[in-house]
Amino acid sequence: MWLLNHRSLENSLQDYIDFLNDCLKPYVREEQFLLLLDSWGGHATPEIHDEIFQDDQQLSTCTIKVIPPKCTPLLQPCDVYFYRQVKNLVKRLQNCAYLIENDREINSREDCIKIQSIVHHQLSSPIFREMIRYAWYAAKLSKEREIFYNVNEVCFPTNLLKNRCSCEQSSFINCARCQNIFCFQCFYDNYHSGSCM
Ligand SMILES: [Zn+2]
Ligand SMILES: [Zn+2]
Repeated sequence: MWLLNHRSLENSLQDYIDFLNDCLKPYVREEQFLLLLDSWGGHATPEIHDEIFQDDQQLSTCTIKVIPPKCTPLLQPCDVYFYRQVKNLVKRLQNCAYLIENDREINSREDCIKIQSIVHHQLSSPIFREMIRYAWYAAKLSKEREIFYNVNEVCFPTNLLKNRCSCEQSSFINCARCQNIFCFQCFYDNYHSGSCM
């Protein structure tokens, strides 16, 4: 099962076709799969999918279901749970005490790119696997519900402030990947994600 969120794509049909060919096809190969689409309307006719996704007998391997308009807050896993975690992490970065104390903001174009990169690095940690799977359960697309840890529990646990960064400054975050504690400067300014596993 594969779910595609078009907001991450430009609203152009060619981009969508490139995505199907370059990203999705190498992943599903000639296997049967279910493709859930939100009702963006830009993916044109279902025939495009039948042409791209075929088994060795030229039979279509793709079954398409479309999430009805205005139902994404209920059915789209990213909307149901995942983006809340993304927004939380971004807010934690932007509103951290260190920035407020130093009357500093991180909202330049370079900051936006850096924040995106950090969020991707942190949330793709294996520790969030079950959390991402929960989004599918919350959207009623899966019956399996597992115990999971969210961003606050992993990155900003209640005992975080009892510890210090290795540079002796106050702690800001527990890295979801290496599980080390960092101050804002070591984590953000020195771009820890670039050197973390
Ligand atoms: Zn790390
Ligand atoms: Zn530090």
